[in-house]
Amino acid sequence: MVEVIKHPNLHILTGVHVTKILFKNRGDDPVAIGIEFAESLSCEEFMVLATNEVILLGGAINSCQNW
Ligand SMILES: Cc1cc2nc3c(=O)[nH]c(=O)nc-3n(C[C@H](O)[C@H](O)[C@H](O)COP(=O)(O)OP(=O)(O)OC[C@H]3O[C@@H](n4cnc5c(N)ncnc54)[C@H](O)[C@@H]3O)c2cc1C
Repeated sequence: MVEVIKHPNLHILTGVHVTKILFKNRGDDPVAIGIEFAESLSCEEFMVLATNEVILLGGAINSCQNW
């Protein structure tokens, strides 16, 4: 983890809550293109668009909050 954390393309945000996965249609298939998230304390909302892919690691508990 110590080595990985130095990667210039890795940004770790804590104290935020992913509220939405953004999709767009590519042909007939929906493709995830980004996320919306809110700061837990201020509830200020932000959007991040992915260059390549969105990897969802929400765990099993409360997973439905991401949809
Ligand atoms: C009571 C219990 C005991 C267990 N005991 C063992 C054990 O002894 N040995 C073992 O190998 N496994 C055990 N497990 C299973 C193990 O905990 C899981 O398999 C493992 O934690 C799954 O890892 P994960 O990264 O997929 O999800 P998690 O560890 O659940 O991580 C998901 C993370 O995503 C965050 N998250 C979710 N939704 C959002 C959102 N919308 N925005 C921002 N963050 C979000 C969550 O807060 C969490 O931090 C146990 C599970 C439970 C419930």
